[in-house]
Amino acid sequence: MNVITFKYIRQLLENIENKYNLSFCWIGVKKSDYSVLPLVMSKDQEDYLKRVKLRWDDSPFGSAPVGIAIKTATPQYSNDILNDDRFLPVIDIIKQKGFKSILAIPLFDVNNEIFGVFVAYSPKQHFFTDDIIKNIRQDVESIQKQIFELFKKDIKIEERLNEYLSVLYDIITYINKGTASNIEPKHIATDILNDLDRLLNSDGSEIIIYNETDDKLEFLAASDLFLENFGKLSFDLEEFGGLSPFMRYYMNIEHAANIDYEQDPHASEWFIKKGLKSVNSTSVKAHIYNKETACVLMLMRKEKISISESELNIIKLVNQALFSAFVVRKYLMDINSLHTHLEEIATKDPLTGFYNKDMFETFLDNELNKSVLRNLSNSFSYVLIDVDNFGYINDAYGYQVGDLILKEIANILRNSVRPIDIIARIGGDEFGILMPNIKVQSAKLIMENINEKLKNEPIIINGKKIRVSLSMGISTYFNYNDEGIPYSKKEIKILAEEALRKAKHLGKSSIVIADFNDKQPDFMPVYELINKALDDDLIEPAYQPIYELSTGRVFGFEALCRIKYKDNVIYPDQFIEEAESLGLINKIDLRMMEKACKRVSIYKDFKLFVNISAKAFKDESFFKEVSEIVSSYNMQGRLFIEITERESLSSLEKFEEVSEFLKYYGVDFVIDDFGSGYSSLLYLKFIKTQLIKIDGAFVKNINVNYRDEAIVNGINFITKKLNAKTLAEFIEDEFILEKLKNMGVDYGQGYYLGKPSFDIEKYLT
Ligand code: C2E
Ligand code: CA
Ligand code: CA
Repeated sequence: MNVITFKYIRQLLENIENKYNLSFCWIGVKKSDYSVLPLVMSKDQEDYLKRVKLRWDDSPFGSAPVGIAIKTATPQYSNDILNDDRFLPVIDIIKQKGFKSILAIPLFDVNNEIFGVFVAYSPKQHFFTDDIIKNIRQDVESIQKQIFELFKKDIKIEERLNEYLSVLYDIITYINKGTASNIEPKHIATDILNDLDRLLNSDGSEIIIYNETDDKLEFLAASDLFLENFGKLSFDLEEFGGLSPFMRYYMNIEHAANIDYEQDPHASEWFIKKGLKSVNSTSVKAHIYNKETACVLMLMRKEKISISESELNIIKLVNQALFSAFVVRKYLMDINSLHTHLEEIATKDPLTGFYNKDMFETFLDNELNKSVLRNLSNSFSYVLIDVDNFGYINDAYGYQVGDLILKEIANILRNSVRPIDIIARIGGDEFGILMPNIKVQSAKLIMENINEKLKNEPIIINGKKIRVSLSMGISTYFNYNDEGIPYSKKEIKILAEEALRKAKHLGKSSIVIADFNDKQPDFMPVYELINKALDDDLIEPAYQPIYELSTGRVFGFEALCRIKYKDNVIYPDQFIEEAESLGLINKIDLRMMEKACKRVSIYKDFKLFVNISAKAFKDESFFKEVSEIVSSYNMQGRLFIEITERESLSSLEKFEEVSEFLKYYGVDFVIDDFGSGYSSLLYLKFIKTQLIKIDGAFVKNINVNYRDEAIVNGINFITKKLNAKTLAEFIEDEFILEKLKNMGVDYGQGYYLGKPSFDIEKYLT
């Protein structure tokens, strides 16, 4: 925001303040990290705003009028703040300022979405009566659109910059997991700097990481514009003998500031000659590895331009994230120092080598963010583990043995979970495991194996056999709880803790999945259910119609697996993954195929789509049986087999051979969930199919998220180039349908067109 805008809004605020004899008023924007950032104040009360925590989350800070106004979209007030418990933590400063009443009014943008809040304080008790609120509200509403226009740019920029942050955090996660060896820091940094230039209109930017203790350069990168405009970096041996004095000076103070370069005593002639007039500079420092290391990110300007505090702050965050990402990576690459280093930056528990509690929280945040952003439920598992009767063990054998036992348990955990799972030691005898991409039911199976192992093989220490067992509680994130509010991190943790308590209660070796009040079928363990379903013929296909979008005619049906047990219908998310790990999935899939072929074969016009697991490619006889089913029901030319793109290519190495074989029977493959896998385009290169099913997770959002729309459009385009057809799933309303038709997507299915049903006839007329 520039100075003129700022002054203009401040004037508006001053007018309101005078009209109602208020003590003070301000306007803030809501940020995606649930804080509220004050942008303009009627007068300088920064000391006050810095003291109070302005948040709109579910923390106690978020329950003050400002937070509630944003959350509920209605004005909130407190007419006696001196006696309002919510203000207790800041009561001294409120007294000092003489505030007695407060009013917070949410601000709406042109789409009627809340972008911020207007807040006013009065020196009188019971000042904000209904009438006064009504009047102030009118005043605020009459200027909110104007204010939004003025803020818009800042808000947009902030959103973009926040996106970088989330990318960087992802990178940090990969690095911490040790799976980021192919990340090229220079490229990432240059990309980000180029984007920063564009977003903030600067004339170039550079980032330098410097190890001050050894006076050694660790990393540097500059944007394209920087090189174009200045040619030389602030680190130049010839020109400055190393770091420029300016850089060296500002590296020393952790700051985020606009600097008038020409007036600065540390400026260098060389940059001034090149026309450098001002710098938006941020620097962060860290004590790593016994070394003082600093990282400076600077935007260079050929004019005198100040950027807003919020922009500066975000650049500082980007700076911090880049810093952590690259510094951590650099040290990780130095294999010899790996262990020392990790211990030193205090992310790991020295005894087990697992992450500590803080890091574990960070990983949970990360996983949770992903689920929230992608609107996923039950997509990761959060497991808490407690060693049964560890107190006794310690008493009986002593602490040293206790430690050895913990180490042994740690080994078993590490060897039993998947490489991508993150294990932490979060208390004396407590462990936590965060498992991405797995449903709680499957996580439970893995955990059961661990207890099984412990039961069969006691731990041997100093020749003594010691039996240990673990109790565990598992929870996850669900989109909605009873009140329709997404679970927060706190709830996920509490649910897991409760589950763990229950497990402890049940006795040794128990594992309990948190109670989400959802549709857990019976108490029959899943593996029993699956075996029973196969033995007693309880597997039943539900059919979802697939339409040709250009004509609106039914093209075929996708068969989706259900288990009908007693009065319940049990859905695949409750048993497919388990069936895979039990090695029973192929049986289920063949059973499904047989039943569905039999059923659909009588309707000569329709195709049949069935799902299989990639495990089929490891089974010698699977596709032979498929060919027999096809022949016996005369389904030649009508059967499509869906394989999901989430499977790694290596598990599909036989694909070509199988595909040749089945072609003879007129069976084709379809790539399911395309776009959600890890290497979509690579996949297309190796797995050649006639039809590609675009992942519903993108489709269902094409009207609300332009990125999803762009992705769907892109997939459609590429697929056409490959001479294949596209099918879009999750068509949930008429607008999605319209858009897909316009894009030229060939086929579609989804709740709007028809839900999966045991009754096929209802889709035939
Ligand atoms: P999928 O193959 O991607 O199937 C689509 C899933 O989305 C189905 O869930 C379907 O009921 C649901 N769906 C359909 N239209 C819409 C819509 O408009 N909006 C939304 N939100 N969802 C929609 P379902 O039946 O629970 O199946 C889940 C997954 O289980 C399937 O995903 C598939 O991966 C697997 N699966 C289902 N049947 C079988 C099977 O017989 N064998 C194997 N191996 N996997 C199966
Ligand atoms: Ca499917
Ligand atoms: Ca799908």
